[in-house]
Order: sequence, then C-alpha cells, then structure tokens
Amino acid sequence: MILTCKQIARKMADQKLHKASPMQRWWIKLHIKMCVVCGSYQRDAEKFQHAESKFAEFEEGCQKKLNSDFKEKLKAQVRQSQKEEK
Ligand SMILES: [Zn+2]
Repeated sequence: MILTCKQIARKMADQKLHKASPMQRWWIKLHIKMCVVCGSYQRDAEKFQHAESKFAEFEEGCQKKLNSDFKEKLKAQVRQSQKEEK
C-alpha cells in the first residue's frame, strides 16, 4: 500500500489519523519522514497549533505582561526594523 502526498495531507487535515490502522499510520509516519513536501507541511501544522495555544495563553492571563513587557519589546523591534530599513 502506497499513500500519495495528497491522501496523507487530507488525512492530516481531517484529523483522521487516529482512526487509521496501525499499519496505515506507520506508512504515514514513514512517508512524512521521507517526503520533503509532507515533512514541511507537518512542521507548519505543528507550528500553527503551537502559535494558537500560545495565543490562548496570552488571552487568558497575562494582560499586564502584554501591556508592559510586550509593548516595550514591540517598540524595540519596531525601532530595530526601522534602523535596518535605512
Ligand atoms: Zn509526501
């Protein structure tokens, strides 16, 4: 059984990976390891999920931190990028 990139991407997008048989999952994992396209897709998906949970943390608890630390960091970054542009 050989799965194509398209089939794997669809399975990952549908979150049906846990419903796949162990053999199928093994093939998918192997494919993701071997295939550049699926590997980068997987990494992007993980990054996105990570960013989302970080954002939720932000919203939940650290408004103060956001207002002081974050603003300062943001200002510094803006200043830095303005310097780099010139
Ligand atoms: Zn692939």
